[in-house]
Amino acid sequence: MSPEPTEPKKFYVLSTTEGCATNLLENNAYRKQYEIAGMESASSPEEADLILINTCGYSKEMEDKAVNIIAGHRQKYPGKQIQLAGCLPKINPQKIRKDFAELKVQHFPEIPFEDQGNEFASKDFGGLSFKHRLMVNARPLFFKIENLLGLKWQPLHNLVNSVVVNSEFFLITVSTGCLGFCTFCGIKKAKGSLRSRPLPTIASEFKKGLAAGYKNFWILGDDIGCWGQDLGLSIVDLLAEFTKTKEDFNLVINYVDPQFIAKYPNQLVEVLKDRRIVGVNIPIQSGSTPILKSMARRYEAKPILKIIEQMKVGNPNLAIKTNIIVGFPNESWSDFFQSVKSVFAFDAILALKFTARPGTPAATYPNQISETVKSLRHTLINLAILGRHAWVLLASLFRVEAPELPYPTTPVQNKV
Ligand code: SF4
Repeated sequence: MSPEPTEPKKFYVLSTTEGCATNLLENNAYRKQYEIAGMESASSPEEADLILINTCGYSKEMEDKAVNIIAGHRQKYPGKQIQLAGCLPKINPQKIRKDFAELKVQHFPEIPFEDQGNEFASKDFGGLSFKHRLMVNARPLFFKIENLLGLKWQPLHNLVNSVVVNSEFFLITVSTGCLGFCTFCGIKKAKGSLRSRPLPTIASEFKKGLAAGYKNFWILGDDIGCWGQDLGLSIVDLLAEFTKTKEDFNLVINYVDPQFIAKYPNQLVEVLKDRRIVGVNIPIQSGSTPILKSMARRYEAKPILKIIEQMKVGNPNLAIKTNIIVGFPNESWSDFFQSVKSVFAFDAILALKFTARPGTPAATYPNQISETVKSLRHTLINLAILGRHAWVLLASLFRVEAPELPYPTTPVQNKV
């Protein structure tokens, strides 16, 4: 008779993400759940009885990476319990049921935000992509050179500080989920609708970070643009809460859906004049209006790019990042070149090839673009991005930090 399976005593948590800050922070919460269950943290998969794989699946590429890691661990550690968590089981449950039916998908009950903590566990950086690890390791040297020369090259300094995850940051999750129904997006299936954290809770975490001596702060959410819409507040109130203090700090804002840039243009241009706000990601996704419509994105590119220009005038040090999808169904060459043109409004750009996510409207749209054309467009836009990044680098080296403005500037009212 086969011996009763013994209760796992030691656990090990790993991520398959390339650099999703939210996914990495969730690892802390998963570890806490196992500790609450009386288990001990192992320092390696070898040492563990149970391995939790926290998956990412926003693109086919990330799904394939997660599937390879799961299959690899199942093969390498046949005697261990392997459990799955994260986005992929929600984005593509059929794939998990088909390939990993015997593995348990961990649906921890609603994990309180607090359990995520406010710091990355540096042990989670080991699984990052080469590009991310290169930036994480080169960053201290870059700042050393600046200090030696007594200069701050902007916006390059703010980019290097915030373009990828950074263990120097105090992380504050302000919300989860979003109000969008973007036709390409699998994340919505994983994160659901918007749940904003109350402003007083966010404010007290910010104070906790300042009191702990942190200078760098990163506010996280799937779409921070919609923060507060379920509380009768808005992103303008959120940023006003951070900038009302006289303390010095650096603030990075994760994703802001451009529809909220269009909704609060003047207030956001005004609050972003505060040089303590050093980075924001505004995923434009496409430069073409017809494509944005078919993505169910609720804005047009041109007016957004105009507002971004104003933001850069108000705060030249601000590092503005974006994501662009190429090869979306029915994308013509002229649509594509609209996206290439939009590259030049940003300081850091990530271009992704459209990949159909299961159960999303765009997955069954007619006029899907062939892999060959998608790859050609991806190569072309990456050439434009390379040019833009080189320009931002050179322009920064020949332009030192704009003089500090006394802040806070004019208190920003949410004049909606
Ligand atoms: S805003 Fe759109 S792209 Fe972003 S998570 Fe929501 S549905 Fe996905």
